[in-house]
Amino acid sequence: MNRNRFLRSHQWPACLLVALAFTACTPDAPETPPPTTPALPELPPTPVFNADSAYAFVQRQVDFGPRVPGTPAHTACADWMVARLKAAGAEVIEQTGTVTVYTGQKLPLRNLFARWAPDRKERILLLAHYDTRPMADKDDERKNQPIDGANDGGSGAGVLLEIARHLAAKEHGPGVDILFTDVEDHGQPSGAMTLDDNSIDTWALGAQYFAKNPPVPGYQARFGILLDMVGAKDAVFYREAISMQFAPAVVAKVWKTAAALGHGERFVQETKYFVGTDDHVPINRTLRIPTIDIIEYHEATGAFHPSWHTHDDNMAVIDRASLNAVGSTVLEVVWKER
Ligand SMILES: [Zn+2]
Repeated sequence: MNRNRFLRSHQWPACLLVALAFTACTPDAPETPPPTTPALPELPPTPVFNADSAYAFVQRQVDFGPRVPGTPAHTACADWMVARLKAAGAEVIEQTGTVTVYTGQKLPLRNLFARWAPDRKERILLLAHYDTRPMADKDDERKNQPIDGANDGGSGAGVLLEIARHLAAKEHGPGVDILFTDVEDHGQPSGAMTLDDNSIDTWALGAQYFAKNPPVPGYQARFGILLDMVGAKDAVFYREAISMQFAPAVVAKVWKTAAALGHGERFVQETKYFVGTDDHVPINRTLRIPTIDIIEYHEATGAFHPSWHTHDDNMAVIDRASLNAVGSTVLEVVWKER
């Protein structure tokens, strides 16, 4: 407040001064009835989501090499993410363990759970997997070699790392937790993760582990938002059927926010059943936190982006406008939650 405005009060219009004096000195002045619905206090403006920064975070992950659990590249990427999160003011809980994948092989697991304002009871959970597929089983060549995972792994984590950069400034509303899940993409090949197979439980091992052993006892959140494959050029997001089953109100809130921000063309008001499972399933089923999946539906494949689980899932697929549409929508939802 500028102090000079008070000093200049003698410059107020005379009629206003008279009116003020009259009000103050008249004990019988009729009282204004209290409004029936008091206006809610205004919320601080939502920070600007920086798509260049999100893009750089995707690039950085890819630069480590494929983030296959148990490899040095995976460890180095996770170390870097933990450092970023701590620099952004988060309290970081690293959940480590061992999981058995569909081959019977045991793999180290490292979920990263970053928390802002952990003392606040009301929470919002954001999540994405950061591991990448150890093989390119949907490719015609080099099927047994790991993929870059720029979109599948890199994009969701990149958007959340950019959102994380702003969370220390959030002094209102629920506290926010970001969960970077591990060993999401080590499921059984052939059709897997889509609807045409029955190997559902071999996917999302990190999220399953978290849901069964929450590192914060009794962990709960008001709702959750999962990001998976959100970075491809011209990505379009339909209401994903499992999300509609468990958390239709959260889908409605997010899709409405996207439309209000001008991303209505990308967030289509139509439900598609194309995801067999993803990290949101154990969070919904086991922890009973209503959680949605923002995941690209690709018209040409009737499921995921054509680069899915191929060597084409590299930085050439990633587009800043897609990262921005998703990131600014999620940041707005988080910021406007009372
Ligand atoms: Zn995948």
